[in-house]
Amino acid sequence: MIINPYESAKKKIDIAAELIDLHPNTLEYLKKTERALIVSVPVVMDDGSLEIFEGFRVHHSTLRGPGKGGVRYSPFVTLDEMKALALLMTFKTTLLGLPLGGSKGGVRVDTKKLSVRELETLTRRYTMEIINMIGPDKDVAAPDMYTDSHTMAWMMDTYSMQKGRTVPGVVTGKPIEIGGSIGRVEAPGTGMIYLLQHLCQKLDYNLKNMSVVIQGFGKVGSVVAKQLCKNSCKILAISEEEGGIYSPDGLDIETLIEWKQQGNLLKDYNGKNTNPITNDDLLSTKCDVLIPAAIENQIYSKNADKVDCKIILEGANSPTTSQADKILEEKGIIVVPDILANSGGVCVSYFEYIQDMHSYFWKLDRVNSEMKTILIDTFEEVSKFSKKTNSSLRTAAYAISANRLAKAHELRGLFP
Ligand code: GLU
Repeated sequence: MIINPYESAKKKIDIAAELIDLHPNTLEYLKKTERALIVSVPVVMDDGSLEIFEGFRVHHSTLRGPGKGGVRYSPFVTLDEMKALALLMTFKTTLLGLPLGGSKGGVRVDTKKLSVRELETLTRRYTMEIINMIGPDKDVAAPDMYTDSHTMAWMMDTYSMQKGRTVPGVVTGKPIEIGGSIGRVEAPGTGMIYLLQHLCQKLDYNLKNMSVVIQGFGKVGSVVAKQLCKNSCKILAISEEEGGIYSPDGLDIETLIEWKQQGNLLKDYNGKNTNPITNDDLLSTKCDVLIPAAIENQIYSKNADKVDCKIILEGANSPTTSQADKILEEKGIIVVPDILANSGGVCVSYFEYIQDMHSYFWKLDRVNSEMKTILIDTFEEVSKFSKKTNSSLRTAAYAISANRLAKAHELRGLFP
């Protein structure tokens, strides 16, 4: 079943708009993309052939500040996916109260098939193609799926070479040695742990010994899995694109990380009492906490009724459709929505941006404690609004952002 990610994202805004009785003109304005650029990225491959990749950069909104959002390299990147993810970034930065907008970019490419040299060439040419869209006061990029701190270093260097000076603030998620922030790599996972600890405390659940299932073993999934192990949780199953692994006794995450570093697939791991598991079966595994930390629209109308957990903590952006939301709500499952659950990433990106502007770098304790304060305060605000309006955490979170964006739009007015 193919679900259009942009339509799916807009549906969530419609639902929130209904709750707060948003003016139809404002709703239309909030759903539209401010600007989008499609570029060709030609690369001479190692064998001398020429390959031309398609790339994108989308600004959903710069109403409350410069655009902010990641760069994704994946074979499934489309303009509509970029538009959807840029829109989510606007709602995410607004929910946290950061003075930023929302954007997203990407290239349709399978990075697993590229050498490091090809990847660097692709990144530099892509940066050059979108150079007029980005900049510290225009739009600040960051890592997303299949991009990392090294990608950001190449982007920052390419941009700086064009400007004739070093401009660290054009990207966040950089290596620490060139203006990155300590704690940024782990930030989405760290933030998810803070939120889960807080939620468990409120619900009188003991996080220790809780069973957890995680879809995705990338920057978010692997970090959150490691940190949950430290909190004595039992990771029953974890997966990647090709499939995953399950053990009723709980998985040894450190060993699985090493297994991956050796170039192996999770499903091929042969441990004591472990079995391979498909991504479909993983999502219906009985557990206390389910963490979808892979891609969009994984929990949808056809499989939502099989989900068997108490809490869903959305590590990915938009892993659940609106139809699935209804089913999960009826089942009494608490969903901590993406724009809150995984917002530790962009929160520390904002700290990195500030540190770069001041050329003054913080210690890890400060980064984590300031992130924790923002995330917990936001959770409390969302939770209160959801109780007051008898709505889900998702609808409440989107509604809070929609209200703030509507106010900013009203105050600024329309040009000309
Ligand atoms: N790609 C991440 C996200 O979707 C981080 C964005 C950022 O730090 O700008 O939230």
